[in-house]
Amino acid sequence: MSSDLSSEITLPTGEKYIQPTGLFINNEFVPSTSSKKIITVNPATAQPICELHAASAQDVDRAVKVAHETFEKTWSKVTGSERGELLIKLSQLIERDAEILAKIDALNAGKPYATNAMNDIGQILELTKFYAGYADKLDGKYIPISENKFVYEINEPLGVVGLIVPWNYPLAMASWKLQGALAAGNTVVIKSAENTPMSLLYFAQLIKEAGFPPGAVNILSGFGPITGSAMVGHELIDKISFTGSTGVGKLIQQQASVNLKNVTLECGGKSPAVIFKDANLSEAVKWCSLGIFYNSGQNCTANSRILVQDEVYDEFIQKFQEYTKENWVLGDPFKDETTVGPVISKTHHERILSYLNHGSNVEKLNKIEIAPLGSTAQDYPQGYYITPTIFTDVPVTSKLFQEEIFGPVACVTKFSDFEEAIKIANSSIYGLGSAVFTKNIKKAHRFARMLKAGTVWINSSNDEDIKASFGGYKMSGVGREMGLEGIKTYTQIKAIHVNLDDEEEEKAKL
Ligand code: NAD
Ligand code: MN
Repeated sequence: MSSDLSSEITLPTGEKYIQPTGLFINNEFVPSTSSKKIITVNPATAQPICELHAASAQDVDRAVKVAHETFEKTWSKVTGSERGELLIKLSQLIERDAEILAKIDALNAGKPYATNAMNDIGQILELTKFYAGYADKLDGKYIPISENKFVYEINEPLGVVGLIVPWNYPLAMASWKLQGALAAGNTVVIKSAENTPMSLLYFAQLIKEAGFPPGAVNILSGFGPITGSAMVGHELIDKISFTGSTGVGKLIQQQASVNLKNVTLECGGKSPAVIFKDANLSEAVKWCSLGIFYNSGQNCTANSRILVQDEVYDEFIQKFQEYTKENWVLGDPFKDETTVGPVISKTHHERILSYLNHGSNVEKLNKIEIAPLGSTAQDYPQGYYITPTIFTDVPVTSKLFQEEIFGPVACVTKFSDFEEAIKIANSSIYGLGSAVFTKNIKKAHRFARMLKAGTVWINSSNDEDIKASFGGYKMSGVGREMGLEGIKTYTQIKAIHVNLDDEEEEKAKL
């Protein structure tokens, strides 16, 4: 069964569900005005899944105008408590539909279902409740000036916000932005990544069922240079929040100047993990393996540079290989035991392979492929699989040490002392995440202060929490998401000056 606006999908488990395929504008699925379509692909099999409408610039204009009108006429009058109630209702629907949402991301993004995809939904659930609880707590400030004057400041929503999300966490990245923007009282136009539009369109149905008014949330599938660019250039959009590559982030910052849009950019990373000789080595190994192989390494904070102190270098590499071999399972995303799936697409697969080729054949680096439980990418030739790989003794100047590979590939290198570790760790255009392993608390905190990155993990890696802010230093981005910052970023402050002085009245009293 397949209509123009939906398609019956058979999951690899044999279950069937109805996938919406239109654009979600004003709480309805509608066709695009363009004939251009997106065809989604299952990265585990390279087989097409379904065809979806892609939004044209004209569709973007329509969605933005609907969002603008909804903001002006209705949504700006909805109270914080009511917005919180709607988000609570949404969280209940996410909980009800957790399995199907996770299955869609497993199918469309190749995420291991039982681990990664379900973890994503767990995080989304937690953050939806967190933001629901904050929706009625955006209070202001009272500033006394003099006997006859005071100022009060209020946090107002921005208006219409445009959200542009990537494919590595299709529903989670959307939720980091969407739930915060709604809690703060904005209306939204959101664009999914062209590879992974399916889960967000399914989610659109939950938005409607939760009772959000028509026009508060508009969801578009579409291509970056067409749909995304039309959003960034639209004068009725007051803010763009983007997650994706640094290259596109730069373009967005330029294009957003049309109406001096507020921008939040969450871009790439090349996050270092630094292991001192006094660290608990087994713990460091566990976290670093997780930090580079989880989600097939397609994480903006992946610890893709691993710096190990001389004295424990060989032991670390030995333990790292053993741990990785024994604790990961490469394979079919729908098998319960799988923990490493394919990478997202043919293009991305080729891009990672070209880095591997460059590392071993051009730079002649020492490459170690780690076959989890004996299996490698060769066992899954039909999908976009990459065998977890480390390069050792990688020089700081290596292309592989400097550029974001965004796959299950780590560069390991040696350092001799604290100063050298900091110098190498900071020698990057990026500054998103970082991790330090040591039992010495002074060393740990000194490292945390000196490291130029938005997140520092001490004795762990990549275990972010929705209650803490997240974002980049340097070319990893601008602005913060999650935590209270994840709501404030969708507000602006208005200062209201109140003068109580009245000369006439004073004279009359005399
Ligand atoms: P991308 O930056 O091209 O895409 C991210 C989003 O931006 C998508 O929704 C895309 O449609 C949109 N987009 C693309 N061009 C646009 C434009 N001109 N105007 C407005 N929106 C536009 O990322 P990608 O090509 O999917 O991935 C390439 C690299 O980006 C990856 O290899 C990785 O290095 C990085 N990346 C980082 C993250 C992250 O979490 N920080 C996520 C995905 C990708
Ligand atoms: Mn405006």
